[in-house]
Amino acid sequence: MEPAIQVMGIRGLPLIQKGDDLTGMLCERFAFAEGDILVIASSVYSKAKGYSASLSGITPGARATGIATRTGEDPRFIQAVLDASSDILLEYPFVLSELPFGHIGVRAGVDQSNIEDGMIIYLPPDPMEAASDVRKEILEKTGVPVGVIITDTCGRSFRRGQTGNAIGWSGMTAIRDFRGDTDLFGHVLKITEEAVVDEIAGFGNFVMGESNNGVPAVVFRNCHPWSGHDDLYFRQDEDIIRKCMKTSLETS
Ligand code: GDP
Ligand code: MN
Ligand code: MN
Repeated sequence: MEPAIQVMGIRGLPLIQKGDDLTGMLCERFAFAEGDILVIASSVYSKAKGYSASLSGITPGARATGIATRTGEDPRFIQAVLDASSDILLEYPFVLSELPFGHIGVRAGVDQSNIEDGMIIYLPPDPMEAASDVRKEILEKTGVPVGVIITDTCGRSFRRGQTGNAIGWSGMTAIRDFRGDTDLFGHVLKITEEAVVDEIAGFGNFVMGESNNGVPAVVFRNCHPWSGHDDLYFRQDEDIIRKCMKTSLETS
């Protein structure tokens, strides 16, 4: 029998501040084993690295002010969302935009929760590099190679409710590619690419919770390794939903 997969939240972390040695704090509280997959909330990674800002230092421009009037949000917050975005897909009833690293998210993933009043948290500007740095630091500090997934809680199309998504990963491929494999009846699979990093991010996010649980890191042990590729984000020319949204925004 394969060993059971274990899922362990790392408890006892303080409120993370700019400049904190996040990987050091994790290594003090958890004994990593080879092959573990460490899932970290982007919010704490960003707080530790200082990817946060005070709303009082942001001056909203005309577009942000216009959107904020419609959505009823703080125009400075909307300006921060626009600043973090490389392409706006939708302005109302909420801003949906693409970030330079390829992720498409509501309000560009900018958060006002789990940080002091008047402060915002940006997503890390390069989450792939962030995951790779965390992996390297844990290897340096403990000698143990682990996989790392940086997550954010995201809304989704077609279904109510938010789930954890992977925005950066290191030590694994994003996708487990089943194309060319045969099913139980010998049919060759032509389409199936399993977004494993999102599946793990989703369950990691469940263990974290969204509010005051104080568990920003979760470790998965005994996951069977997989192989595939890292093309998690659609290219623009193959993203049908995005094409429809751009067309409707341009004609509205
Ligand atoms: P996001 O999904 O990356 O936007 O992060 P969330 O704000 O939803 O937080 C995920 C988890 O981390 C929740 O359990 C929070 O309570 C916890 N969390 C957030 N910030 C901190 C922090 O500074 N210290 C600790 N110990 N936990 C935090
Ligand atoms: Mn978030
Ligand atoms: Mn969350």
